[in-house]
Amino acid sequence: PNALPPALEAEKRRVLKTAFGFDEFRPGQERVIDALLSGRDVLAVMPTGAGKSLCYQVPALVKGGLAVVVSPLIALMDDQVAGLRLDGVCAEAIHSAKSREENVASWRRVASGEAKIVYMAPERLMTDRMLGALGRLPVSLVAIDEAHCISQWGHSFRAEYLTLGRLREALPDARLVALTATADDGTRADILDKLFAGRAESFVAGFDRPNIAISVAEKRDVGTAIERYVTSRPGLSGVVYRLSRKKVEETAARLRDAGVNALAYHAGMEASERSAAQETFLAEPGVVMVATVAFGMGIDKSDVRYVVHGDIPGSLEAYYQEIGRAGRDGAPAEALMFYGLEDVRTRRRFIDEQDSDDERKRVEARRLDALVGFCETTSCRRQTLLAYFGETTGPCGNCDTCLDPPEVIDGAREARLLLGLVAATGERFGAAHIVALAVGHLSETVTGRGHDRLPGFGKGADRPAAEWRGVVRQLVALGALKVESGAYGGLQLTPKGGRILDGAEGVMIAKPKEKKRERRRMTAE
Ligand code: ADP
Ligand code: ZN
Repeated sequence: PNALPPALEAEKRRVLKTAFGFDEFRPGQERVIDALLSGRDVLAVMPTGAGKSLCYQVPALVKGGLAVVVSPLIALMDDQVAGLRLDGVCAEAIHSAKSREENVASWRRVASGEAKIVYMAPERLMTDRMLGALGRLPVSLVAIDEAHCISQWGHSFRAEYLTLGRLREALPDARLVALTATADDGTRADILDKLFAGRAESFVAGFDRPNIAISVAEKRDVGTAIERYVTSRPGLSGVVYRLSRKKVEETAARLRDAGVNALAYHAGMEASERSAAQETFLAEPGVVMVATVAFGMGIDKSDVRYVVHGDIPGSLEAYYQEIGRAGRDGAPAEALMFYGLEDVRTRRRFIDEQDSDDERKRVEARRLDALVGFCETTSCRRQTLLAYFGETTGPCGNCDTCLDPPEVIDGAREARLLLGLVAATGERFGAAHIVALAVGHLSETVTGRGHDRLPGFGKGADRPAAEWRGVVRQLVALGALKVESGAYGGLQLTPKGGRILDGAEGVMIAKPKEKKRERRRMTAE
């Protein structure tokens, strides 16, 4: 719909070929470039390695004039400048790690029009003096790399980035493009608001990693489950994430006992041990790295065949980053997450106990809800994951819910039984107790409190406990029940839960998987 004039289109392709030596744009690059060349401001969200730099470098050269690139890291600026110079593009970086003379020489080449692209840190750009000087030059484009640094919601907030909010007004004739690899809804909205006063086109692209088969499994005896999973994939490189250092050590030891070449990696180890483990993992085939999230930053190993989460990750964003370490070579790879309400409670406690304001806690609680929603979704997992990053796609055919679609049934009876038991016991008990009551399991805790005399006691004896646990998890994911963060992880009714209990609202649930699998096995025989 927004085709460029033929001359611009031809020039764009010529620059791609002659300056960078590429024949084709990557998915996502062209839309960003076209919008900029058509005179619009852009927020581009693309994963690491997708080719964000080209999104501003090509328009910079096509438009002519000067492009200013804001980057938070000096090393990154120097890399980019070196790369551009190799491509024969005159680029400069002005920053505090260079001598005054070098910076003056760079500025001369910028001011004379010789340099086409100049890199600067935000604090250097946003001085009145620099903005005044740039105002007298034909600045056609300003690119803000790592734009999520402007958001206080993200994990890499930089106060210097906030001053960039004045850019739009300080250089009114330049097009503005913000680029980032990490931006969920909240962060995206924040960038749009702070940098563009809401007026920019935003593009989210290329998050899909179709070669990674995604699945989520119930967390029951996870040590055994991990051992089975890993030992049934002998000789493959994999990563197993665990939440705590202790679990990392335990899991690694157990795998080694089972004959797996497993290494541990966490922040509690000596730096030398950590780098030795990392080097072994990179150099040798068939090593399984059991690690906390401390592992993975900047690890570039292309043939990691699986990433297992023994505990739920911190957010969908973290999950995406972490599973992205599998299958970089494009060959089939797997991501498997074990998930249970225990983990949800642990995460909720982290959020509640962290030292931050309520707004921040609310944001994090919403992120956790999104993760739980992903774990309990009855539609395509990849669709759910990509939708979180603002990318719309069809069902993928390469996730557990696509390959074995859960049947969705009316769950009003089940939901009311559980919600009724939660309400009748004072919203203080965890999932295990509520499920025990539903199936009519007698124990001292049950009889001691007289819970065996509740009207709902044993009314769910027609289904096994595992199925009831599944229903509890779905009610949590649907927002009908809330997991309290306290020591007992008590379940509480939300207003939605109250409406379902009163029959004012219906509820659909997934038909339990165990039964389906059994049925299939039976019909196959
Ligand atoms: P990002 O900043 O998104 O992490 P980069 O801009 O560093 O990614 O690009 C990653 C790599 O992809 C670079 O080696 C770059 O040369 C390469 N690349 C970018 N665009 C293309 C393209 N259209 N065709 C081929 N390679 C490309
Ligand atoms: Zn799918």
